[in-house]
Amino acid sequence: MDLGCEHCYGEDAETVMEYCTKNLETTRRIVSDSHFGVSLRKCPECGQQFVAIFTEFVDWQGGDDAQYFDIVPVTPIEAKYIVNAQDLLRDLSKLGNRRRRVSSDWPTGGRNRVSWKHGEFHVEEGH
Ligand SMILES: [Zn+2]
Repeated sequence: MDLGCEHCYGEDAETVMEYCTKNLETTRRIVSDSHFGVSLRKCPECGQQFVAIFTEFVDWQGGDDAQYFDIVPVTPIEAKYIVNAQDLLRDLSKLGNRRRRVSSDWPTGGRNRVSWKHGEFHVEEGH
C-alpha cells in the first residue's frame, strides 16, 4: 500500500507530525466536540487523505488535561466509509491495522511525546 509523500508520511515522526498539523487541509469535520474531534484532512502536496483524531480527558483535579492526537492515512474508500460510519469509534480503531500512524501523547502532568504507532488502536471519546 502506497500512502502519502515524504512530507506527510516520511520517516521522522516529529517532522511528520509538525508538517501535518501545520499543512493538512481539513476537508470535513466528522465530530467536533470540545474534548473529542474527528476530521478528514488532505495533504496539499500529494492529495493523501487522513483521519485526524483528537481526544482530551479533563482532569478535574489539576490544570493539565491529558491530550491525544492521532493522524491516520486512509484510502478514498475508507474516508467515505468513516464519514458515513454507523459505529464511528469501532471503525476508527480498525484504521490502525496494516499501517503506521503518527501519534502525539500528552498525558496529564507529563511531556508531549510524538511517535509512530502500529496496530489496532483504542479510540474513546474524551470527556
Ligand atoms: Zn503528502
